[in-house]
Amino acid sequence: MTGKIIKGIGGFYYVFAENGQIYECKAKGIFRNQNIKPLVGDDVLIDVLEEETMKGNITDILERRNELIRPAVANVDQAMIIFAAAKPAPNLNLLDRFLILMLRQKVDTIICFNKKDVVSEKEIALLEETYRNCGYHTLFTSTYTEEGITALKDLLAHKTTVLAGPSGVGKSSIVNLVSPDANTKTGEISEKIQRGKHTTRHSELISIGEDGFVMDTPGFSSLYLSDMEKDELKDFFPEFMEYSDECRFLGCMHLNEPDCKVKEALKQGKISKIRYKNYKDLYEELNQKKKKF
Ligand code: GDP
Ligand code: ZN
Repeated sequence: MTGKIIKGIGGFYYVFAENGQIYECKAKGIFRNQNIKPLVGDDVLIDVLEEETMKGNITDILERRNELIRPAVANVDQAMIIFAAAKPAPNLNLLDRFLILMLRQKVDTIICFNKKDVVSEKEIALLEETYRNCGYHTLFTSTYTEEGITALKDLLAHKTTVLAGPSGVGKSSIVNLVSPDANTKTGEISEKIQRGKHTTRHSELISIGEDGFVMDTPGFSSLYLSDMEKDELKDFFPEFMEYSDECRFLGCMHLNEPDCKVKEALKQGKISKIRYKNYKDLYEELNQKKKKF
């Protein structure tokens, strides 16, 4: 039987099988590729050992399409970053860090601003303009009025999506809406894990029906752009691209160089002031970090 690893903890892998059941599996068997360890998100083959206790063995790992390092998950189709449009006000510096991290890992990111019900049209327009202009699919939702939820479900259907965002933005409320039975399923696994003790917060995939899954990653309040060269940073601001070819200097950082077309576009309002400020701040941060060593 095939299935997908939705959680790994203490040597056990919880496999959501094609029959809709969750089996507690050990990784026995000889994998075709000896070097890989099972990862959440892996599509696997399992042998069911006992139907009553739902135990099984993973006998093979099917070919991985990709592998994210942070969070550790295989076969990711996309990421969705969730912030509140207000209450609390979105930390756009943190949002931009996340976008950069995902772009570096070549994962498409959808931006979801939740709590649409507490912001004005003007505030929405500003956020929308800022992020749509740099090529991101930007979505506004409210779990209270359910506005935008159908669109959100459509974006998540048949895909494996990493959900991220700081706490308090409504991420759990969204997960509950897209996966009405997430709680019961998660409960089932938690029950099994109780026996294993040492239950820390592990990332897990939640089935949202058919072949769609979301990974609810623990809330974060900061993200470090580790092992990144400051000179690379500009390449992760997609909206700079159409202007940077015309800059006078090859390898222009768009900071203090003369004849910089990115800065010109900024002056003309074609590039967002918020994004540009975040670029400058992050560049400075990477610059400082380098100096310390
Ligand atoms: P999480 O910490 O990101 O998982 O957020 P929760 O889902 O626990 O929600 C945090 C708080 O925001 C709760 O008080 C929710 O009732 C509230 N909340 C969630 N979604 C919305 C929304 O769309 N609009 C408003 N106004 N509040 C929301
Ligand atoms: Zn430039």
